[in-house]
Amino acid sequence: MVAAGPLRSVTVLGATGSVGLNTIDLLRRNRDRFRVEALTAHRNTAGLAGLAREFGARFVAVGDESCYGDLRQELAGTGIEVGGGPQALADAAARPAEWVMSAITGAAGLAPTLAAIERGAMVALANKEALVCAGAIVMAACARSGSILLPVDSEHNAIHQVFDFKNPERVERLILTASGGPFRNRSRQDMAAATPEQALAHPNWSMGAKISIDSATMMNKGLELIEASHLFPVPEPRIEIVVHPESVIHSMVAYIDGSVLAQLGSPDMRTPIAYTLAWPDRMAGPSAKLDFVQQKSLSFESPDEQRFSALRVARDALRAGRAAPTVLNAANEVAVRGFLDRRIGFLDIVAIVEETLERLVGHSADSLEEVHAVDDEARSTAESLMMAAA
Ligand code: NAD
Ligand code: MG
Repeated sequence: MVAAGPLRSVTVLGATGSVGLNTIDLLRRNRDRFRVEALTAHRNTAGLAGLAREFGARFVAVGDESCYGDLRQELAGTGIEVGGGPQALADAAARPAEWVMSAITGAAGLAPTLAAIERGAMVALANKEALVCAGAIVMAACARSGSILLPVDSEHNAIHQVFDFKNPERVERLILTASGGPFRNRSRQDMAAATPEQALAHPNWSMGAKISIDSATMMNKGLELIEASHLFPVPEPRIEIVVHPESVIHSMVAYIDGSVLAQLGSPDMRTPIAYTLAWPDRMAGPSAKLDFVQQKSLSFESPDEQRFSALRVARDALRAGRAAPTVLNAANEVAVRGFLDRRIGFLDIVAIVEETLERLVGHSADSLEEVHAVDDEARSTAESLMMAAA
């Protein structure tokens, strides 16, 4: 249980999204333990204003500046401070909340996440793209400020729960589990004709559109491989990916003596979020309890890199280092958007990412300025490849 005592103040970046609303659900069930400092969204002013009023937030911000007027109107007379535009997202993160949920999708979450880290907040990190596009910068900022990074992504959260941080040399390898997504048993030919609706229908998890498409291409597991390489002191060759269609084991840590420690749970993001909300304590969570007898079996298979080339492309980008992961992430964001907008086919997503990587070799991403420059260039390259493919 969270110790009785002062309320933990919290900020939720991306409060209207899938992870954001799962976080809100936990806050709603634990009104006496948490106080909301700031909330953000992209464009959903009505949803954001409703949450701000419900929780008495002190500050709210929309990323899209054109929505600022609407938000201000929605909250007129409440005394809640309002902001709009990318700087307002960073301002929200910089406000004095003890704990910050980073749940904005994509590289747009990087600056606000860094703003929370730089002031030494405890950061619950769902926004894996921030680590993929600027992992070394994010981890260095944590080391400087003493900010504690708590992974929310279920795999990394699982590893965090069973990893011996005091004795990392005892760890032999990490085993990231993957559901395989909605196209686990589909041929390339089938996937070529896949529609956004089919790709969005994840068998186990209900999530935002971008990560759902990433799960269908399995780029999500590629991004998670890069994420894991930053979060844990284990080099890439010792991070394995195993397909586990039931999504009950969320990931595992193998130790040198042969022991393998796993974290299990129902596929419900409220479990990893609750772990980060209460950390280093534990709090009661509402997820369905696992029933092993009903579950009967857990199965595993190797990932098929022929059909899911995103796994190979992401591993190669991690090995190549420098700006390759930044390019991978930016091109993927553009291509996923293009697929959702029906401008390109499903298999074009990873093809465009791979082609963008081939065109943008040799860049570095050592500073934030370089990350932004490479991110911009990768986006325009992917956009022009997409126009050619359409
Ligand atoms: P979502 O699309 O449901 O929500 C995204 C949130 O971010 C929304 O509040 C949206 O308003 C906001 N947002 C989006 N673009 C923005 C922008 N440019 N500027 C400001 N705000 C913006 O996404 P989600 O599924 O909740 O995922 C959020 C993050 O968490 C992603 O990085 C995803 O990879 C990660 N994640 C999600 C899950 C899950 O179960 N949904 C699991 C693991 C990791
Ligand atoms: Mg995950």
